[in-house]
Amino acid sequence: MSEKKIPRRELPADARIETLAVREGLPATPWGENSEALFLTSSFVHPDAATAAARFANEEEAFVYSRFTNPTVMMMERRLAALEGTQSCIATSSGMGAILLLVMGLLRAGDHIVCSRSVFGSTIKLLGGEFAKFGVETTFVSQTDVQEWRRAVRPSTRLLFAETPSNPLTEVCDIAALADIAHGAGALLAVDNCFCTPALQQPVKLGADLIVHSGTKYLDGQGRVIAGAVCGPTSIIDDKLVPLMRSAGICLSPFNAWVVLKGLETLSIRMQAQSERALALARWLEQHPAVERVYHPGLASHPQHELAMRQQSGCGGAVVSFIVKGQTAGGADLARRHAFQVIDATRICSITANLGDTKTTITHPASTSHGRLTEDQRLAAGITQGMIRVAVGLEHVEDLKADLARGLDAIAA
Ligand SMILES: *Cc1c(COP(=O)(O)O)cnc(C)c1O
Repeated sequence: MSEKKIPRRELPADARIETLAVREGLPATPWGENSEALFLTSSFVHPDAATAAARFANEEEAFVYSRFTNPTVMMMERRLAALEGTQSCIATSSGMGAILLLVMGLLRAGDHIVCSRSVFGSTIKLLGGEFAKFGVETTFVSQTDVQEWRRAVRPSTRLLFAETPSNPLTEVCDIAALADIAHGAGALLAVDNCFCTPALQQPVKLGADLIVHSGTKYLDGQGRVIAGAVCGPTSIIDDKLVPLMRSAGICLSPFNAWVVLKGLETLSIRMQAQSERALALARWLEQHPAVERVYHPGLASHPQHELAMRQQSGCGGAVVSFIVKGQTAGGADLARRHAFQVIDATRICSITANLGDTKTTITHPASTSHGRLTEDQRLAAGITQGMIRVAVGLEHVEDLKADLARGLDAIAA
């Protein structure tokens, strides 16, 4: 343990999440800036050689080199840890970098992971493909069937990995139940909290041990930077992942950290507002004659509606998916043509597979995010050619309805 510590901002111990979102970080510099400073510097200067030696030996906590210590990055880490309710946080260059760091830092050859089949596509490639090369095996299981998770656990299982709600079907898994399975097996539960963010869902309160984030999505919130983070106890973050970061170097740039830091200030009101708009849009879509089915955890028709409401502060989140009619009458080809027609008729929505932006995005999962799967794999995952995913932003909801109605009304006519 280092003796000299980098100070914290003085805040009341019972400060609430909204307060921490705008205040947690580091004390201001002697210049008294109100907005957090952006420290674009690769290294830090020491007053003398002995102090430099103490800092390099970790006897004194100080800023040394921006691959592992930078004040702007630290402010973002402290703020995100405060929001997630964890002791610590380490920022990474991307969301995938966060998962890479987590698995490299905690597992070794011979260890086993249990992971939902419905997680982000690159996560499946990283865990199921890349890590298999190093002797870490992953079993993929159902997002919603807890018994399948339980049966997949082996004596060598070290990690359960979940993401909830899933993309694009918004399937919700039971975090508390998965935490019980993990802990009963002497393993850890990591949750990718990208879609809800701590503004709606705090997985550690439900028993999860670690949180991974793609800061690229709602944490930035305006589609500007690629960023990531892992949140968890100091025994893992500071003792295992920080030393690994020193060697592995998948660090977040101070500029990107600053953008995310400022994004966190409005996270809670953005998530509330975007989630409200998404629910209104989902309800409207549900009664549209050209729509076959709508997926949003806030709808009473959602299979895990009750669980989602309990787990996500009564909010469904900002992602809505729906299936345009056509498959029954004309098969996959007509369904795909209809989906493209709806997407191409929009004038407001951005046609992009990204999400988490204040600008509403619209995408056809079967030909973009899930385009590399075979049609059979896609159908097994429940992703049909008529499916459209909308990640709702902050535009007026009536404008968004009108944007989608243009294509949908033409199909219904
Ligand atoms: C985008 C995303 C990631 C990967 O994050 P990047 O910042 O793009 O590397 C991981 N998980 C989920 C759920 C995502 O949506």
